[in-house]
Amino acid sequence: MIQLIKGFKDILPGEVETWQRIERVARNLFGDFGFKEIRIPIMEKTELFARSIGEDTDIVEKEMYTFPDRKGDLITLRPEATASICRSYVQHKLYAQEPVRKFYTIGPMFRRERPQKGRYRQFYQINVEIFGVASARVDAELIYLLNILCQRLGVEDVAAHINSLGCPKCRPGFKTSLLNYIDSVADQLCSDCLRRKDRNPLRVLDCKVPTCREAMTDAPSIIDCLCDTCDTEFQILQSTLDRLGVNYMLDKRLVRGLDYYTRATFEIQTGSLGAQSAVAGGGRYDGLVKLLGGPDTPATGFAIGFDRLAEIVQMQGDDLQRKPDAYIAAMGEQSQALAFDWVCDLGSQGFYIEMDHQGRSLKSQMKRANRLDAPYVVMLGQNELDSGAAVLRDMATKEQTEIPLERLVQAIVKRSQKK
Ligand code: AMP
Repeated sequence: MIQLIKGFKDILPGEVETWQRIERVARNLFGDFGFKEIRIPIMEKTELFARSIGEDTDIVEKEMYTFPDRKGDLITLRPEATASICRSYVQHKLYAQEPVRKFYTIGPMFRRERPQKGRYRQFYQINVEIFGVASARVDAELIYLLNILCQRLGVEDVAAHINSLGCPKCRPGFKTSLLNYIDSVADQLCSDCLRRKDRNPLRVLDCKVPTCREAMTDAPSIIDCLCDTCDTEFQILQSTLDRLGVNYMLDKRLVRGLDYYTRATFEIQTGSLGAQSAVAGGGRYDGLVKLLGGPDTPATGFAIGFDRLAEIVQMQGDDLQRKPDAYIAAMGEQSQALAFDWVCDLGSQGFYIEMDHQGRSLKSQMKRANRLDAPYVVMLGQNELDSGAAVLRDMATKEQTEIPLERLVQAIVKRSQKK
């Protein structure tokens, strides 16, 4: 038997209804806030991700699915969506049409991480991005959106963590004091941290190795080093969240693994997922559009881990599966042929009808109709064909009615419309 690739998964009926519901709720919400959908390719030139995510990140260093195509050009299965959305924004000069653009996209991402619960090699994200607004008010809008989305989905055990990463003006000062601290605890850090500390000391803050976390407990906080503008923006973020009634906590360790982030950074964490506690993460990336050859454009966004959100959305997938409008229990070849015509006729009119193709007994067909929770069962055998009328049973009231065969489709339509 050929099995699926390690770290990849199927989303089966029963589970997929949860995904559909999340997607429906998300799309409605984003529409209410003026976001437009954008669809971007699954593959891009490798250099797009290398340049925008940063060479010394886990993603670029060891997690990307990169391979030469048949002509030898290096291409990569996208590990995230922001770089592609920015590429598209620059390539199609989307900034020329409107000063502020709001986009969302939903789809699979690929990272060759160590698979475990909540961490896959193909996973899905819901990405939301706002281009052209420098104010931290829109960072608050994003966190607010995440909050409302969780509320609408009935997800309660979530908390917003926020931090600021400063800007190219104030971050260098912070990096220096951070590096001094890192050097003082260097003997307790992992080899990845030691290798990266000089080029990107911020990464040491979000290393997941427990001994590194322990060693970094008393590290300086960037909040104490922010320049006036970054400080004002961070205050705006907090006061806006206060006004919108969003609970949040300051988290000095929150630095994000990607190089292009500036100022506001945030994560939505949950206690329901064990080790993989981040349901969504995002922040401001004012430098990225310019880095990719576009005009200097402030931008901010987030990515929700769809797989993780689906896991914590409290609901029975079964309840959302579409139930048939009726079940036709047909016995004998001729009855089955007639039943099949009705199923197709009613299906084309928007009614979902189930029937049996295995020639099972009436008893076992009735059992199946019950399991599928069909509100009506049509019984059709040789006797009914001879008499020219089928028996229609209302499964709730147990009432049975004889319906002439030529009026049966009409009878089901009438009853299903009333429901
Ligand atoms: P990132 O793009 O790394 O900022 O991740 C944003 C969100 O995507 C995270 O908060 C997770 O919920 C989700 N995520 C990231 N990597 C994975 C993965 N390998 N498997 C499942 N979800 C993931």
